[in-house]
Amino acid sequence: MAFRQIAVLLLFILLLPFTGYSWGFFAHQRINRLAVYTLPPEMVGFYKKHIRYITENAVNPDRRRYAVAGEAPRHYIDLDVYGDSALYKMPRFWQQAVERYGEDTLMTHGIVPWHINRMKFQLTQAFKERNLDQILRLSADIGHYIADACVPLHTTRNYNGQLTNQRGIHAFWESRLPELLSDNYDFFVGQARYIEQPQLTAWDIVASAHLALDSVLGFERELTLEFDEEKKYSYEVRGNLTTRVYSREFSEAYHRRLSGQVERQMRLAIHSVASYWFTAWVDAGQPDLRGLASTLSAEEQERLRMELKEYEQGPHLPREEGETHQPQSLWISGRKE
Ligand SMILES: [Zn+2]
Repeated sequence: MAFRQIAVLLLFILLLPFTGYSWGFFAHQRINRLAVYTLPPEMVGFYKKHIRYITENAVNPDRRRYAVAGEAPRHYIDLDVYGDSALYKMPRFWQQAVERYGEDTLMTHGIVPWHINRMKFQLTQAFKERNLDQILRLSADIGHYIADACVPLHTTRNYNGQLTNQRGIHAFWESRLPELLSDNYDFFVGQARYIEQPQLTAWDIVASAHLALDSVLGFERELTLEFDEEKKYSYEVRGNLTTRVYSREFSEAYHRRLSGQVERQMRLAIHSVASYWFTAWVDAGQPDLRGLASTLSAEEQERLRMELKEYEQGPHLPREEGETHQPQSLWISGRKE
């Protein structure tokens, strides 16, 4: 291959979008999976039977963001573009938010709290109709969006530290830390609970994430001053690529300084996911889940196959589990930096 071609190919590889950007595949799957075990007896059998589906499909919304228009904004909300006290002042309900800001503005800066509520409504409908395909698809999907809403960096336009010279912090917090350390987390989160006000609770989740944001950015900045550059990063071989990652030492120091924040947000995610599933089921009149079809319809299986194919053939490579750190990445959360 001519040098020129190699150079072009290399450039292309460097420009490949860095996919994932929400808890990493690893954490999303773990959250959906663990949520199953907090369900009440009337639900747990059904969800356990389909636990593989619920786990594996926890990442579908991230896969879709390239293929489906309007998918990307469902994963975040850039609260700070609406001013300092946006967290307290933003209209909680979609209609009021549209009246105040217009749909275009909302779509530009992310809609995760409203989208969670919309998904909850659709899941309730699916339970009412006893539609297995929809129940499973919506359960897996809502799990993804709720988990995203628990991530502090999903609530700011500085979502990858790009405005504060901390590029890479997004995947560091939500992928690298849980992958390195979550085996030691306590994931006993108690029973799923009934949510009286799903729309307001979605905002409570976003609030807990947003209030953690100062520490996420601040502690990284403090620690960076204490670490030499070569101690902050290390190199790991993944497949046939050598990539720069935050060193274990830096990761552990950061984790200690956050004093359990990643674990707290992951626990919140697990408990919230199960509670939304439970609430949708209760609101649908607590249908007997033993009477549902036992396998997905042929159409749904085909749809899943197509979705995966589209992702694999899309304008990017499938994300390897644990791929947390390509400093060249240009796309995060479906947005251009
Ligand atoms: Zn996401």
